[in-house]
Amino acid sequence: MLEVKNVTFGYSKTEVLKAIDFKVEAGENLAIIGESGSGKSTLLNLIYGKYDLKQGNIFWNNEEILGPKFNLVIGYDFMKYVTQEFDLMPYTTVEENIGKYLSRFYPEEKQKRTKDLIKVVELEAFTNTKVKFLSGGQKQRVAIARALAKEPEILLLDEPFSHIDNFKKQSLRRSVFKYLKNHKISCIVATHNKNDVLGFADQLLVIHQSKIIAKDTPQHIFKNPKLPLIASFFGEFNVIEPYGIVYAHQLQIVVLSDLKAVVTKTYFNGRNWLIEANYKSKPIFIEHHLKLEKDALIYFTISS
Ligand code: ADP
Ligand code: MG
Repeated sequence: MLEVKNVTFGYSKTEVLKAIDFKVEAGENLAIIGESGSGKSTLLNLIYGKYDLKQGNIFWNNEEILGPKFNLVIGYDFMKYVTQEFDLMPYTTVEENIGKYLSRFYPEEKQKRTKDLIKVVELEAFTNTKVKFLSGGQKQRVAIARALAKEPEILLLDEPFSHIDNFKKQSLRRSVFKYLKNHKISCIVATHNKNDVLGFADQLLVIHQSKIIAKDTPQHIFKNPKLPLIASFFGEFNVIEPYGIVYAHQLQIVVLSDLKAVVTKTYFNGRNWLIEANYKSKPIFIEHHLKLEKDALIYFTISS
């Protein structure tokens, strides 16, 4: 179990993270979201032991994670970290990069393990390709496989699928997160993509202005977004009094209701249309299955 206890840190006098407190159980998937610059990468770096804490402690089971002041070499065997720079060996193949840290004394096992991991990150077609010929997304996948090669107990992932195109993203996410669950590897994923969170994370942390402002299951945070900032992570939303924060999909267009608005614009979003309308002189957003004409008068209700 990872325990982050009352951690405060700043690169200078200004504190980037204040009184951060949470736990991650073995095999648990924790997602961290927050705006750019909110301190997600900093938090992962602290957990990895890259910096000395200003206050607080971090433990993996009963071992305290210490910064460079106390540790000559950064990093621990039980933990792997895939940063936003992948740090691969460009002139060697995908297979060699992934197998780099596996023992040469067990060539068969090494080969099998490397092959399995290449499959997890869906790079079978590139096994013998030199890394320098790969795209950013393919390099990111090699970095994930290499981090898994030595069977860490906990994996830190910083925006792990950010370079991977949408054609691959969904199946890759499923494959990697399934592998982690099956092998009971804890993971912490810093992300700004809701699809990395919904469906995979057991716990979600929201960081804002140096602090944790929400900590719960993704389902609960999605259903009860305390702030517009949190709702905006999940999709289009409105603030309509006295209902509070409501997502565009919670508004239904009906034949007649006390709530009425005038359509200003429609956007196709694949499954539905997003209707922008004027309600009490302010724009609101409604998800609807049909396209509507500009200036149409609509009535709507709000569901919880
Ligand atoms: P995120 O990953 O959420 O985008 P970061 O953790 O990278 O946020 O950054 C948090 C804050 O710390 C930002 O204001 C950033 O400019 C600052 N910061 C990040 N890394 C360093 C560093 N090595 N030295 C000084 N300031 C840094
Ligand atoms: Mg970052």
